[in-house]
Amino acid sequence: MKTLNLNENTTIPILGLGTWKLTGTECVEMVSKALEIGYRHIDTADAYGNHREISRAIKESRVPREELFITSKLWRTNMHARDVIEAGKRTLDELGIEYLDLFLIHWPNRSVPIAETLEAMNTLKEEGLVKALGVSNFTINHLKDAFETEVEITNNQIEFHPSLNQRELKDFCDSNGITVTGYSPFARGEDLDIPQLQEITESHETTVPQVILSWLMQKNIIAIPKASSEKHLQDNFASLKWELSPEELATIDAINHEPNRTVSPLWADFEY
Ligand code: NAP
Repeated sequence: MKTLNLNENTTIPILGLGTWKLTGTECVEMVSKALEIGYRHIDTADAYGNHREISRAIKESRVPREELFITSKLWRTNMHARDVIEAGKRTLDELGIEYLDLFLIHWPNRSVPIAETLEAMNTLKEEGLVKALGVSNFTINHLKDAFETEVEITNNQIEFHPSLNQRELKDFCDSNGITVTGYSPFARGEDLDIPQLQEITESHETTVPQVILSWLMQKNIIAIPKASSEKHLQDNFASLKWELSPEELATIDAINHEPNRTVSPLWADFEY
């Protein structure tokens, strides 16, 4: 599978499994099935409450740790240094692993100085508990604030799909050496009915989810679709097997949809 470089220590697989809303037995089953199919990148977060279920699936799969790429995220109430260290170590304990491949700040929280949070996360990296650091839901201004610190940010995980094409933010990340992960690639299902996408499926005998994932991955955006059936897991994984033409990529880029943000909780800070 194609990977993107994060830093001298690690690369990130371009396709992963999103696990928001996967809990309990369903989570164990879906992560196990995904590993069987060939997924090696799992996206979780402290806030998803499923670290232990993911741990179980990883252990049972017997896939060697070095073949896996595990991302987790620091919750916004744990941004002070002492809490960062505690949450990072607890996350590893719950996941039953020795290190995280990528540790992200889940949401910006300007009530805590960004330097305090990032420097504490960097301590975890220096101790070998984390391979790469990143952020999520950061705007250009949040990133500029983070650049005031010396800590290397390798990834920004943001909502990205045909009806929320965050070109400007992606270009800013590109020009600053930050990879982009696109979350909610299907707009939580809402983008699956876009007519231009349906038309493209006909020339490739494929599905709309695969068209969206190919579009993201060909733009070097890491995609982390969530699925809760084997059929959907297989469908999404099959997007690795074919490519869109430059004209088709341009058609999707030109979809002129009213920006459709599907994840905007009370604490979001997108206007900054
Ligand atoms: P999503 O991946 O855009 O959409 C998931 C929906 O699409 C589910 O209803 C799923 O149905 C359906 N689906 C999946 N594959 C399909 C297929 N092949 N055909 C038809 N329908 C399909 O939504 P998401 O869960 O919001 O985003 C993905 C991941 O991004 C999350 O799980 C999480 O890891 C991450 N995320 C991060 C943040 C953040 O703040 N950093 C926020 C949101 C999400 P089934 O469940 O029935 O399969």
